[in-house]
Amino acid sequence: MRLILLGPPGAGKGTQAQRLVQKYGIVQLSTGEMLRAAVAAETPVGLQAKDIMASGSLVPDEIVIGIISDRLDLPDMKNGFILDGFPRTVPQAAALDELLKKKHIKLDAVVELRVNESALLNRVETRVAEMRARGEDVRIDDTPEVLSKRLANYRTMTEPLIHYYSERRKLLTVDGMMTIEHVTREINRILSAIGAVEPKVAKPAVSAKKAGGAARKTAKPAGQKAAKTAKKAVKAAPKGKKAASSKAGKANGKAAPPARGGGAGKAKKAAKKTVRKAAKKVTKKRAKR
Ligand code: ADP
Repeated sequence: MRLILLGPPGAGKGTQAQRLVQKYGIVQLSTGEMLRAAVAAETPVGLQAKDIMASGSLVPDEIVIGIISDRLDLPDMKNGFILDGFPRTVPQAAALDELLKKKHIKLDAVVELRVNESALLNRVETRVAEMRARGEDVRIDDTPEVLSKRLANYRTMTEPLIHYYSERRKLLTVDGMMTIEHVTREINRILSAIGAVEPKVAKPAVSAKKAGGAARKTAKPAGQKAAKTAKKAVKAAPKGKKAASSKAGKANGKAAPPARGGGAGKAKKAAKKTVRKAAKKVTKKRAKR
């Protein structure tokens, strides 16, 4: 599974990434963590990034693209990855597209965690208090002043990626205002709906090899077929609806949950229905055989 987690500072990307790592055995690539490690180790990249990060600005694109490119070549990436904090600008996203193309890696989805901006300061304050209580070093950029700069940067530099990935039919939006548990469940649900998660289904009774060419076509696990159909349903999400619900979300100042971009609530419901329908169909077919 190959994912990007998108969302402002304090949206819960790190927390959710950890949970996905546990569940699917994939690797989390956090450019923020990597850069902090480089700063601590006083590497040339770290020395370059130190003051930029402390001020809440973005490190130059070439640096983070270089870090990610090197990291994608390591063998532990073969099971998949979650990018957290990268890409953060449109040029970074374009560079990532190129990198993935060159390395023959396919991105499954971009999961956007949508949150109310007003909640973010509180969340970061809580994170700071918890880190202090655990005796951990607090990030120097986790102050109200720097946070507001990071948020402003998110709005101008990173938010355009929502449109970028929505246009490419990769965006899935989750309401990040729910409890941690709920958000996790919702992410897992939408990942299964688009077929990014290998569904656990019983093996077909007759092996494709034994039954010859004809069977090979029909021997796909029900889940896989269903997921494929669901993916189509998500893709077919009407564009006009998206814009409308996005506007609605902005107008009342609330994070309008899975509405923005990529397919949204209705499409997901439809997808879920299609999964069930398709699974039923395949099961029926198999029963006939
Ligand atoms: P957050 O998302 O909570 O703001 P991160 O840990 O992801 O924090 O990033 C911390 C800092 O590291 C950023 O403010 C920025 O200076 C730098 N950084 C991380 N990722 C990138 C990136 N992809 N491009 C540029 N700078 C980055």
